[in-house]
Amino acid sequence: MRFRTIIITSIFIAIVSQMQAQTQVIAHRGFWKTEGSAQNSIAALLKADSIGCYGSEFDVWLTKDNELVVNHDPIYKMRSMEHSTLEELTKLRLNNGEELPSLEKYLKAAQKTNTRLILELKKLRNERQETTAVEKIVRLIKLMNLEQRVEYISFSLHAVKEFIRLAPPQTPVFYLGGELTPQELKELGCAGPDYQVGIFKKHPEWIMECHKLGMKANVWTVDKEEDMKWLIKLGIDFITTNEPLILQKQLK
Ligand code: MG
Repeated sequence: MRFRTIIITSIFIAIVSQMQAQTQVIAHRGFWKTEGSAQNSIAALLKADSIGCYGSEFDVWLTKDNELVVNHDPIYKMRSMEHSTLEELTKLRLNNGEELPSLEKYLKAAQKTNTRLILELKKLRNERQETTAVEKIVRLIKLMNLEQRVEYISFSLHAVKEFIRLAPPQTPVFYLGGELTPQELKELGCAGPDYQVGIFKKHPEWIMECHKLGMKANVWTVDKEEDMKWLIKLGIDFITTNEPLILQKQLK
């Protein structure tokens, strides 16, 4: 009897894993490894959308005058994101000649696209700044009517908790840090982990654990074909990559 239960359970797990949605492609800092593009540029967002990526990831900072800008680096072209004003930062040029975008300008461009917006709030200099940033982001996303298309990610556990507290209840919020188990993330109200590939190499079982808990698993930054293949086989939900075209080819 017990043996039969095990067999039935195994068949059920096999069917569920077959039914699982295909791995989705998230362009890391947009699709930037292409002509006329640059990391975290509006062009990179539009190009990620044009090749049909599920999502396009980008990084957000809070400036000295409490405004929001899109960039990865804490210091870009000798300017500190957290210690410069919006005006100073948006004068800077990205490598494709585009102005460094304010979040508002970036989201205005996003309104004309279909790709999901994977918004990373960078770890800021203190928790108060992070709360201010989360409040402003959530408000702006609502104002721009993008609530159905946004997902939040952060290395800051405080920012993650604040997104969960302040964004509409069904908004996916993923944690980037890597040290929390799927169960711990579930208890926080996270949509799942968004962890570095090395973490999943140590804990491949976390992908299935996420699924059992009704969560999704995202992984960054996967640019090698062998890693892509391995993660797709394990049923990972999202792969964040600098090589979206290579990943798309793997998924065909
Ligand atoms: Mg990022």
